[in-house]
Amino acid sequence: PTWPDYGEITFENVSLRYDENRDPVIRNLNLHIPPGQKVGLCGRTGSGKSSLVMSLFRMLDVSEGNIHMDRVDITKLSLQLLRSRLSIIPQDIVMFSGSIRDNLDPKGLYSDEKIWKCLDLAQLKGMVEALPGGLSAAVKEGGENLSVGTRQLFCLARAILQNAAVLVMDEATSSVDPATEHAFLSVALNAFAHRTVIIIAHRLSTLLDCDRVLVLEGGKVIEDGSPSQL
Ligand code: ATP
Ligand code: MG
Repeated sequence: PTWPDYGEITFENVSLRYDENRDPVIRNLNLHIPPGQKVGLCGRTGSGKSSLVMSLFRMLDVSEGNIHMDRVDITKLSLQLLRSRLSIIPQDIVMFSGSIRDNLDPKGLYSDEKIWKCLDLAQLKGMVEALPGGLSAAVKEGGENLSVGTRQLFCLARAILQNAAVLVMDEATSSVDPATEHAFLSVALNAFAHRTVIIIAHRLSTLLDCDRVLVLEGGKVIEDGSPSQL
């Protein structure tokens, strides 16, 4: 069956809970994200931001309601297919020992040309070109020979390569300084200009370039508007 690839997301009366005997951490959420929208998610610790995006990956089951991606109920999809449409840039980026190429394309699916193109979009081309060996240059276990900012850009390059319809960032930039954060987000938003992007951040100032910002509190959306309105 063909499944469109627009990155449209719909939450319909969704409640999420970790434990049947506990209150839901997301309560009766209704949300429509049109294709290509840049959505910021903001709110205090424990307000449910990560739980909300985890449900999209089906890392947390919906206890009530349903989630559709591109008009398909995500519970009807295999995890593999669903997750092939979603990329995430987490706070702690995993890189393994191996070459840069191995880290970007572990299954060897893409041509060097394609990889260089993605590195260029992620603003890493010059840096990799300058390394002895280029794409074959070694990454140490955990990526410890790379700065946090560089690892984030590699994770972004990986996401660009995957060409997923939806990019999610969960506090991806919370450990870097505001200038690095701003630079990273502008590279990411530019590379995913035609894709749906969900950015979770504690600070509203991180989300000024989003089309729309949702503020969560106690598992409810308490604000929904353009960043300038909030
Ligand atoms: P933060 O800004 O700290 O990352 P968040 O907005 O992402 O917070 P969540 O991590 O989604 O919030 O947490 C929402 C609620 O769910 C909190 O009350 C939290 O304690 C609870 N919670 C999160 N993860 C689990 C888990 N694995 N098991 C049980 N409860 C959890
Ligand atoms: Mg969180």
